[in-house]
Amino acid sequence: WDAIIESIHGCTACELAQNCTRKVPGIGSREADLLIVGEGPGHDEDIRGEPFVGRSGQLLDRMLAAIGIAREQVYITNIVKCRPPDNRDPKQQEAQQCRAFLEAQIEQIAPKVILSVGRVSAHNLLASTLPVGKLIQQVHKLPGTDIPLKVTYHPAYLLRNPSAKAIAWQDLKLLRQMLQ
Ligand code: SF4
Repeated sequence: WDAIIESIHGCTACELAQNCTRKVPGIGSREADLLIVGEGPGHDEDIRGEPFVGRSGQLLDRMLAAIGIAREQVYITNIVKCRPPDNRDPKQQEAQQCRAFLEAQIEQIAPKVILSVGRVSAHNLLASTLPVGKLIQQVHKLPGTDIPLKVTYHPAYLLRNPSAKAIAWQDLKLLRQMLQ
């Protein structure tokens, strides 16, 4: 595990390394049943070196708390470990360059369930281009594995579109069942 984190901190494999303040490998329990995968660090995450902080992170924490899960019990990471400039989507090539780190983290943690948060995460993990609204309608498996994968809306999207919170709540209840 230490080698993975060290490799992320030393990585310059793609151009995202040039402008980020801090690498954001992930945070949480390495024995977590639930692995949460977002898109990439934003402004606050880049400064703190921790994923899902700021308003989106607070909402994610409240969503987890609603199903009885503390942030410390899960592992939270992103598709890319460095902040894309101006919060743009990570390019496909950047996501591919970073993929080996995520795969190593998944192998080490061996989660029971993966929660893929938002479009960029879902499209990368499932190699799909379907809208999130379609992808959330079923439980997937991480391709090449037997690990169940649930897609849900990104908290930033929920902050902009509160009407989608009802669907996210259904996702959370299903997630709780999947973890039991
Ligand atoms: Fe390396 Fe990933 Fe950062 Fe690119 S985003 S420099 S592949 S750690």
